[in-house]
Amino acid sequence: MIDLFSDTHTVPDDGMRRAMADAEVGDEQLGEDPTTLRLEERVAALFGKEAALFLPTGSMCNKVAIGALTRPGDAVVCDHLAHTYRFEGGGPAALFGVVFEPIVALKGHFTPEQLGAVMNRGNVYQPRTSLVYLEQTHNFAGGTVWPIEQYEAVCTTARDHGAAVCTDGARVLNAVAASGIGPQRWAEPVDAIWIDFSKGLGGPGGAAIAGSAEFIAAATRFKYLLGGAMRQSGFLAAAALYGLDHNMERLADDQTNAARLASGLAELGLVVSPPESNMAFCEPPPGSTAVEFVAELAAVGVRTSVVAGRIRMVTHLGVTAADIETALGLIAGLVKAA
Ligand SMILES: *Cc1c(COP(=O)(O)O)cnc(C)c1O
Repeated sequence: MIDLFSDTHTVPDDGMRRAMADAEVGDEQLGEDPTTLRLEERVAALFGKEAALFLPTGSMCNKVAIGALTRPGDAVVCDHLAHTYRFEGGGPAALFGVVFEPIVALKGHFTPEQLGAVMNRGNVYQPRTSLVYLEQTHNFAGGTVWPIEQYEAVCTTARDHGAAVCTDGARVLNAVAASGIGPQRWAEPVDAIWIDFSKGLGGPGGAAIAGSAEFIAAATRFKYLLGGAMRQSGFLAAAALYGLDHNMERLADDQTNAARLASGLAELGLVVSPPESNMAFCEPPPGSTAVEFVAELAAVGVRTSVVAGRIRMVTHLGVTAADIETALGLIAGLVKAA
């Protein structure tokens, strides 16, 4: 099976497993797990922020950021397909009493004008807009990469209205590979930014959020509140460090593979959105629905998924350039048969 379902399906390789087995560990809740501390310093430096915090999941990064940067009754602005709005079980509302103000934006990237139009700081009738959420890359809008000028401009608009900004950077390192613009530049205009270790970096779990020392102190309180504080988390942190050391540069290969996949699909006559990172999205062939086509693909050995009505194919370290050619051959057989 060629697994294009998600980069979350990457599994630790032998080197990562050895790094985990050899990790130096202690009690994380007491600040005594040396490998976790090392990872937090590494992530803070990666983003040029004062501090970072290791958490079990990316979803919890979003929760601690919302906890730290809002008050109950506040509004959080995001794109209408944002992960934290649509795909986290309503957690931000349930846990922190926020309402979302979703913007319908092209590719998940709203404009400073769209943002300015929904910001409220003075009107007592409306929720106070205290936080703006950006997603880089934007998952459900197609693995899209914010153009840097637009990203910086919306951050300025947010700040002009007195709101904080958090970047859901589950795949921000894919955006770095795609844009050639480094992590610090994406981090600079925002209050908080995080990365996931269980996606393209190949780890089994864990994520880390970076920001000012003051933000991280507030986020740490919510880590405990949510039950996210661990014990010998160094085993996971060791995998994350290994991922940063060995699997960050190669994210560019995933980009190349996604581009090749998309051009091959287009040659087969399928309607494809040009990939901006490690995801290719296409429409089902005429006469077939996305759900039917995904089932047909699975039956010939290519695992994909339906996301926002289209077929999503994600490249990652478990998929080689040769696998892409094999997948294209299998898909060609299906399309020709139809
Ligand atoms: C995967 C993902 C998350 C959630 O991360 P988990 O580690 O699975 O909890 C949040 N935001 C985006 C954009 C994602 O792709």
